[in-house]
Amino acid sequence: MAHEELNGGGIFPLGGKAESEYFTGETYRNMIFTDPEPLNAAIGSVTFAPGSRTNWHTHKVGQVLLVTGGEGWYREEGKPAQPLKQGDVVNIPANVKHWHGAAQNSWFVHIALTPGETQWLEPVEDEAYGRLGQGE
Ligand code: MN
Repeated sequence: MAHEELNGGGIFPLGGKAESEYFTGETYRNMIFTDPEPLNAAIGSVTFAPGSRTNWHTHKVGQVLLVTGGEGWYREEGKPAQPLKQGDVVNIPANVKHWHGAAQNSWFVHIALTPGETQWLEPVEDEAYGRLGQGE
């Protein structure tokens, strides 16, 4: 997929490919603000190609996602997946196991505000991902 198409919902440049051991599929990350002051939170724009998503993970302090384009999913362990679209905001509590990523047929772009460390866990299995939006 062309970068221009992927970045259609991105306000900021696409950035480089994200680390493949923490993501499934084609994802890009642009760290747009990393100064420790005044917020003490890393701010990155993450772009997901259709079908791509993070591994399951937790954030030591929590995380806020600001959706800037496309369609995607947010899922906390033990809860139904929530569909996401441009303008949605997700408040992710500290130490809650979750993943986020694109819908099956759409690119997806969010800005992630992450004030603490991230603990990366196992990938989201293709079978479980494929059931999203079908009553799962
Ligand atoms: Mn997260």
